[in-house]
Amino acid sequence: MVAVLAAAACSTDRPATERTAEPTPASGEAGASAPSPEPTPEQQPVEPSESSAAAEPAGPLSADDPDPATAVRAVRRLAGRIGPREATGAAYERAASWVSGELTRLGYDVVRQRVDVPAGESWGVPVPAGRSANVVATPPGFDATEPHLVVGAHLDTVPQAPGAEDNASGVGVLLAVAEAASVRRTRLPTVFVAFGAEEPRGPTDDDHHYGSRHYVDRLGPRERAAVRGMVSLDRVGVGDRVPVGSAGDDDPVQQALLAAARRAGAAVIAEDGQRSSDHWSFVRAGLPGARLGSTPYAGYHSAGDVPTVVSVAQLERVGRIVAAWLAPR
Ligand SMILES: [Zn+2]
Repeated sequence: MVAVLAAAACSTDRPATERTAEPTPASGEAGASAPSPEPTPEQQPVEPSESSAAAEPAGPLSADDPDPATAVRAVRRLAGRIGPREATGAAYERAASWVSGELTRLGYDVVRQRVDVPAGESWGVPVPAGRSANVVATPPGFDATEPHLVVGAHLDTVPQAPGAEDNASGVGVLLAVAEAASVRRTRLPTVFVAFGAEEPRGPTDDDHHYGSRHYVDRLGPRERAAVRGMVSLDRVGVGDRVPVGSAGDDDPVQQALLAAARRAGAAVIAEDGQRSSDHWSFVRAGLPGARLGSTPYAGYHSAGDVPTVVSVAQLERVGRIVAAWLAPR
């Protein structure tokens, strides 16, 4: 049922030839070829949701799977067509609607978490109190009390920047990986979150990362224990090596990402003491988290942060690392 759903929902034109699940009584060979979205009568599920959870339709995710063109399209859409996305503004709302639609189209269950934020000053520009949102996408049948992984990227920008690198790049790679994972098996169920209101509204450590702190605050004790790793994709389209950041030193998620990068053949640079993104909301609450991205660039937090600053090759490197981190071993 998942294969059928995913095949029907996913509009990518990439070949599905590797969607060859091991034959099981539930999916059989029809699940592998699946030319038609209709289940055969003997596969007709009595209870669709139970069938979805039981089916094992897809081959394993690999580093080759994320399509960088998906990330590029997102950068052009968010930073080109929509533009600056201050966390409480109408453009942010348009961006959240677009990302929500993309993830829904891929077959995820998508909800929005309301995030209230205070007035303040964001990179020198006064910003009002208001409402932002996290866009949270979970795979069908997801149980937040079972072990899972979280891939996040902030969707908002400072008021003056169209935010191609900061952070349409991260959202773009998130969508590319979510697209690949929608038709592949990951080692654990994976939640994809576009966070609201990451950018600062004041000078202290409590004046930024509102969306991710809200996400963590809303987790109950069993859900917290179930988060086995979180990675924040933040400024992932500039440079030719991928910064792999840890809030402390020797972080297990950072180590796992470095190992994933080796498997994926992607050049990296380890970065300790990295607390300037949404992974820090997880780590400061005692949950495992790390960051990909942070290479300095000229257009940072300015009107010059336009799609041409983003490199397709770097987006592809980061997609490969995340996919290798999510892949079954
Ligand atoms: Zn950022």
